Amino acid sequence: MTAPFLSLAQILNRLALTARWTLRDHRPALDGTCALCHSPDCPPAIAARDVLETIRQLRWRDTP
Ligand SMILES: [Zn+2]
Repeated sequence: MTAPFLSLAQILNRLALTARWTLRDHRPALDGTCALCHSPDCPPAIAARDVLETIRQLRWRDTP
């Protein structure tokens, strides 16, 4: 799929959506490790949280 004319807001929305899917798939199981990779420090979940936090800060900065 090509989408050549995305605005920055649309790109951020897609990134946020992907990060939320990642967090949903890599949520901690009952023993505290990732349900998908069985790692206590799941790298995809950490990266997804970083992405969401960065997007949150970008949106705050853009809000008048
Ligand atoms: Zn994981």
